[in-house]
Amino acid sequence: MHLQIVRLLEWKIANHGKRFINISNKRENSFRKVYKEFWSPKLINKPPYEHFTQVGDPVLRTKAAEVPGELVNSKEVEHIVEKMIKVLRKFDCVGVAAPQIGISLRIIVMEFRDGLKDILPKPVYEARKMCTLPLTVVINPTLTVTNYEKHKHPEGCMSVRGYSAEVERFHSVLLKGKNLKGIENEVELSGWNARIAQHEMDHLDGKLYIDRMDSSTFICTCWETVNVKSGRVEIPFYK
Ligand SMILES: [Zn+2]
Repeated sequence: MHLQIVRLLEWKIANHGKRFINISNKRENSFRKVYKEFWSPKLINKPPYEHFTQVGDPVLRTKAAEVPGELVNSKEVEHIVEKMIKVLRKFDCVGVAAPQIGISLRIIVMEFRDGLKDILPKPVYEARKMCTLPLTVVINPTLTVTNYEKHKHPEGCMSVRGYSAEVERFHSVLLKGKNLKGIENEVELSGWNARIAQHEMDHLDGKLYIDRMDSSTFICTCWETVNVKSGRVEIPFYK
């Protein structure tokens, strides 16, 4: 016989009531609750996040849903886009897709600031065919390759923080979609900006650059510093 039943019977005999059962349930429930919360803390931080979701998060492996037509021009979508721009600029990057801030919707934001030309080494800037791209918000984007010539360059992703690898991307693409006002736009991109668009479009289909990379070139971007600093290096997920 189960130990608990023996105790229950003992209590019933002594007290002639059902109170034990109620108390027992309460105690069990509250213990279960505390125990559960201990192992799975309440999600107090809800998306849209102000950090980048990381590989392993199912949101990065899910095909994102189209933004319904009637919501394109809504405050909710505007709020998501504002957060995407905030995160893009806070982390100093050039592209972000909504799943990267925890929202499984087909929205991408890109920006290649003019100032990057002064920060990046000139040979790198030229070899990777980089050029300024003003802030571009595309809702429900579609991408058509307009030049199938491929270029292989190192690529990183804020959702695979701390690593990079060489990835082949098409030279030019035509990106179409709605802006925040719900107006259909199109933009022809080439070189690095075409790469950003292809990378962000992949995010909307649950794909990451690690699915397309030349795996022999996959590196931890701080591997040399790890040696210099005897391993005392951290990859920050905040800023
Ligand atoms: Zn990415």
